[in-house]
Amino acid sequence: MRLDVCKHCISVEPEGMTDLSRGFLTREVSRGVFMLTNGNYQSLLVTTGEGVVLVDAPEPLVQYIEPAVSDVTDEPIKTLVYSHGHSDHIGGAYLLQRPGLEIIAEERVAKFIADKHDGRRLPPTRVFTDQTTLQIGSRTIDLKRDEFHSPEGDLIIFLPKEKVMMAVDLIAPGWVPLLDFDITANMFVYLGVFDRILSYDFEAFISGHTADVGHRRDVELTKAYAFDVYETVKRVHGEINMKELLAEERDNEQAGIKRLIEEVTAKAAADVKTRWLNGPMKGVDLWTESHCRAMLLYVRWSD
Ligand SMILES: [Zn+2]
Repeated sequence: MRLDVCKHCISVEPEGMTDLSRGFLTREVSRGVFMLTNGNYQSLLVTTGEGVVLVDAPEPLVQYIEPAVSDVTDEPIKTLVYSHGHSDHIGGAYLLQRPGLEIIAEERVAKFIADKHDGRRLPPTRVFTDQTTLQIGSRTIDLKRDEFHSPEGDLIIFLPKEKVMMAVDLIAPGWVPLLDFDITANMFVYLGVFDRILSYDFEAFISGHTADVGHRRDVELTKAYAFDVYETVKRVHGEINMKELLAEERDNEQAGIKRLIEEVTAKAAADVKTRWLNGPMKGVDLWTESHCRAMLLYVRWSD
């Protein structure tokens, strides 16, 4: 049964309804383009007329990929793209190994995988530098390197005709980012990526996590939250009198730094929570302290 659920998404599974009785569900985000999820991880599945292009192969999801593909198309899986090098998103690649499978990764992710000697993350068969465009059958898929999450690099994956975007481990629809702004390795690049992403003309956003498809509003909300944390931490940090604090710690500089980190983190988190707790995104109670601490390390030493 297909139901139109919003102007952006035509879902095999209606948005908001999460029937995982088969262990997975598939949401059609544009004709022939699907998000596949087990409720936690996501892959993107693109029919092309010349074989399916899959983005990512999280190990817990791989057992469902073949049934999900055969539900929606007769095309075989011919191409696997790695969104980034983290094992939780591509560590099931070895289970998809088959003759002729093309695996595509950015150069620095390919080098990282080679250095790891990890048999689960199959080495790519096609490596590009910075950006490339896949023209396969009816589809155009733009791949552009960013560095908002992992030090080896993360792809912004964009289907311009379908207005579908995928960027993994940046946002999760309905949730604030995970610990430390999803363990971003570079807060400066992280804060800048929201505008880079919003400059694309996309409607559906595949985040890599949750059972849901995101939209522009989810990216805008996470941006507003991240910049609120940034501005709050910057203000609270600026109010700290380091001289007084050091005197209280008998000029033990390291004890002073530790107290500064703890005090700014606690004060900023309490402030941020007044605006976001019970707001549109879950997880504020879980992660806001870690966000403020991660932001403070950036504000104090890099900003
Ligand atoms: Zn990751």
